[in-house]
Amino acid sequence: MRKHIVAGNWKMNKNLQEGIALATEINDLLKAEKPNCEVIIGTPFIHLAKVSEVVDHSLVAVSAENCADKASGAYTGEVSAEMVKSTGAEYVILGHSERREYYHETPAILKEKVHLALANGLKVIFCIGESLAQREAGEQEAVCKAELEGSVFHLTPEQWKNVVIAYEPIWAIGTGKSATPAQAQAVHAFIRGHIAKKSQAVADQVIIQYGGSVNDANAAELFTQPDIDGALVGGASLKAPAFAVIVK
Ligand code: PEP
Repeated sequence: MRKHIVAGNWKMNKNLQEGIALATEINDLLKAEKPNCEVIIGTPFIHLAKVSEVVDHSLVAVSAENCADKASGAYTGEVSAEMVKSTGAEYVILGHSERREYYHETPAILKEKVHLALANGLKVIFCIGESLAQREAGEQEAVCKAELEGSVFHLTPEQWKNVVIAYEPIWAIGTGKSATPAQAQAVHAFIRGHIAKKSQAVADQVIIQYGGSVNDANAAELFTQPDIDGALVGGASLKAPAFAVIVK
């Protein structure tokens, strides 16, 4: 049995004080109602160290939303995987479509980020997914295949133990228009099947989250699907009660 993981992605929201308050509220709600899945909150870099201090890591893990594709040195404004790890964070989200689109992160750059994250003891939530135009052209499987093969397909079974895949159709992110459970399940099954071509054992154990307008009303039905092992949640992770309902 694969465990489920519900992860929040705050994106570029919340100042430091607001972030600490939200993390504390989420932690308190989870303490009251012990989750039967793994919970992660993904925060901007500035929150990581403080949020790591205020949460109970047996209830909730902390994730960065990005890290540099270089180990260290003269890269003004960048934050390395080693720096992320030193804050107490356990995870990093890589390959989010917003990073691919707005910051031109290519599969080769993401491959380097994945390598550095794993080498520095971070687990990776690796996002893949197609645009609306690609979905309308029936290219969702080809896009997921290319994004997997471009950045994570080469990993060893040992490294795959520290990788979570998040299938996030871009047309469903922040639009309020989630994929249906059947649409999501079909792509999750494809992803797992494609990974099985490399290793059946890896395919059986890898956690594949769905992301795209998951909220407290649609999460339960999505989670009934056999290949949906939780969710990566954007907007609804900014409200502690809604996030707690998704976890529940
Ligand atoms: C996301 O950004 O990863 C996401 C899934 O956002 P939302 O839940 O707001 O669609």
